[in-house]
Amino acid sequence: MEKKNIFEVACQQLDLAAKELKLEQEVHCLLRQPMRELHFILPIRMDNGKVKTFQGFRVQYNDARGPTKGGIRFHPEETIDTVRALAAWMTWKCAVANIPYGGAKGGVICNPKEMSKGELERLSRAYVDKLYLTIGSEKDIPAPDVYTNPQIMAWMMDEYSKLRGYNSPGVITGKPLSIGGSLGREDATARGALFTVREAAKYLKLDLAQATVAIQGYGNAGSFMATLTKKLFGSKIVAISDSKGGIYNSEGLDPDAVVKHKKKTGSVIDFPATKKISNKEILELKVDVLCPCALENVITKENVKNVRAKIIAEVANGPTTPEADKILFQKKTFIIPDILCNSGGVVVSYFEWVQNNSGYYWKEKEVCEKLDENITNAFESVLNVSIVRKIDLRLAAYVIAVNRVVEAMETRGWI
Ligand code: GLU
Repeated sequence: MEKKNIFEVACQQLDLAAKELKLEQEVHCLLRQPMRELHFILPIRMDNGKVKTFQGFRVQYNDARGPTKGGIRFHPEETIDTVRALAAWMTWKCAVANIPYGGAKGGVICNPKEMSKGELERLSRAYVDKLYLTIGSEKDIPAPDVYTNPQIMAWMMDEYSKLRGYNSPGVITGKPLSIGGSLGREDATARGALFTVREAAKYLKLDLAQATVAIQGYGNAGSFMATLTKKLFGSKIVAISDSKGGIYNSEGLDPDAVVKHKKKTGSVIDFPATKKISNKEILELKVDVLCPCALENVITKENVKNVRAKIIAEVANGPTTPEADKILFQKKTFIIPDILCNSGGVVVSYFEWVQNNSGYYWKEKEVCEKLDENITNAFESVLNVSIVRKIDLRLAAYVIAVNRVVEAMETRGWI
């Protein structure tokens, strides 16, 4: 499998937009690098009494449109370049969604699956101790990402509030409801992605009630993607995978039962009445909708020829490489690009932050309706630009996003 530096991928995607927009070289250069990076170490007392040192990062990519925003990932394979790429993508994602934020991302190299609750709490608090002067409701607002969750956000918000001396719910989003989280945040990434799939299906005249769907990755986004797709559209989920492997049944799977099975056994594999398939095979299934919901760099020039889905909904960040993109575009695969497809998470994070800052909390219905309006508008704009300029949807999303960031930089007098 080709090993990609995903920050290079993010830069290549920007380069295409810069060319399309005929950006001045100086402006293009400015956008090719993060505004600010923090690298730090986190010495943590482990349960065995020994101190283990972890490496942490926070990258604030661009704040022309507002305070920077983006999740924190805890992952054994985290690298600074991954964080840089994800921070760049957050910048474009917030701009495409037209919410008043710049982009950021954080990460810690660690394996949360091998850590106790106490160790995770100490690591989460230590992360904030290192960063509390550079994050804040008006500066940089973290959220969950791969292997972080509402509990971790709660510890982080609590630590920040202690250091500041006052309750500061707006410093972080994706919190539990009891301390200022928003209704509808938990499944927002999947729900937003579903709205984009609904719009794509409308455009392609595909009946989702008859559609087959494969879900690669069964974490927060993937599991909600499966349960909501079945519930809202009645589509047939024929395959599901997680980091350990996948399951297939041409008659369709019950996503809720698969969630229960995964909770009990730690994986989707060995779910009754299914055929085992690999993570490689799931991407190559002949389905109407393929949803990569795990990590970046899974559809590459090596396997793209075998990808047969009609629609690819990029629920994960960066699942498709630029080389694979080109081939999928030629094959007329309808790719809903990540910065549009998975923007529901950060859109509801924005709603959470608005509620925190105003101290007035909304009903779930209101959150979902506003999310639908926001995502549907974004989808329409991207589709229109792609039709008018005769470019693919990813490039169209970048054209809109980069234009908005450049306009903000111009208005501020930076360029
Ligand atoms: N980690 C999520 C993403 O990649 C959510 C970010 C947020 O809510 O700030 O979009």
